[in-house]
Amino acid sequence: MSDPSKAASDLRIVLVGTQHPGNIGAAARAMKTMGLSKLVLVAPEKAPDRDTRAMAAGADDLVEAAPVFSTLAEAVADCRWVLGATARNRRIQLEPLHPREAARRAVAAAASGPVALVFGRERTGLTNEELQLCHAAVHIPSDPAFSSLNLAAAVQVLSYELRCALLGDADMPLAEARTPPPGEGAASHAELEGLFGQLADTLDQIDFHKGRAPDSAMRKLRRLYLRANLDSADVRLLRGVLADAQRMARLAAQADAGGKIG
Ligand code: SAH
Repeated sequence: MSDPSKAASDLRIVLVGTQHPGNIGAAARAMKTMGLSKLVLVAPEKAPDRDTRAMAAGADDLVEAAPVFSTLAEAVADCRWVLGATARNRRIQLEPLHPREAARRAVAAAASGPVALVFGRERTGLTNEELQLCHAAVHIPSDPAFSSLNLAAAVQVLSYELRCALLGDADMPLAEARTPPPGEGAASHAELEGLFGQLADTLDQIDFHKGRAPDSAMRKLRRLYLRANLDSADVRLLRGVLADAQRMARLAAQADAGGKIG
């Protein structure tokens, strides 16, 4: 997508019958972090208030600019494509799309006119009549035993997917990782920290730094060891090597001290 902000201006987030004014502010913030600005309210139970402003945390401009309609039909009358977000996977007639797929289609449709993403009430969601006004449904694949996200959290997840689609990286392949993902038997965090602690002590004892800042060498060494994807046995081996180096450093220090005395 050549100009994400232009396409974003045709993506509209519609909140229907919102019960908690704080959620309107939190939804506005969620949108603004993802570069979306067109918020539309349909018959909110309470007008935006102090809670809205507090939760918007700097995204109040979206709320102030938001038109308020009394019905969903009016709010989406000029839209090319209307997508209803639903917490329920069953009992709806429209086959729900996966958020990624929905976002890609929404961004493609926004090239030819306004697109609405519609969210329901906190307690009861969208009515069947409202869902019938939608061309498609989208469901965030939550745990079926606890499927309903907070309204603003749902706005955040779907706004994020819209942003990824706008940036054209929704189907980005896994980048060649500099640090490979840990495999089976990978050393634990505590084992690695134990190794790094002993390594730092050893570097001091063998006078590795010679006046240079120790932090920089340790940062590089940490990175190097993390790249090696160590398992527990590797950590034990390296710690054994360090233990011997520390023992030799102690002997050298003793011999040095003995020599000076003698
Ligand atoms: N108890 C309501 C839940 C409403 S949550 C119900 O059963 O529908 C408020 C709104 O957030 C929903 O109407 C929907 O638009 C959105 N939402 C919540 N969870 C969602 C999910 N898993 N997938 C898509 N949208 C969701």
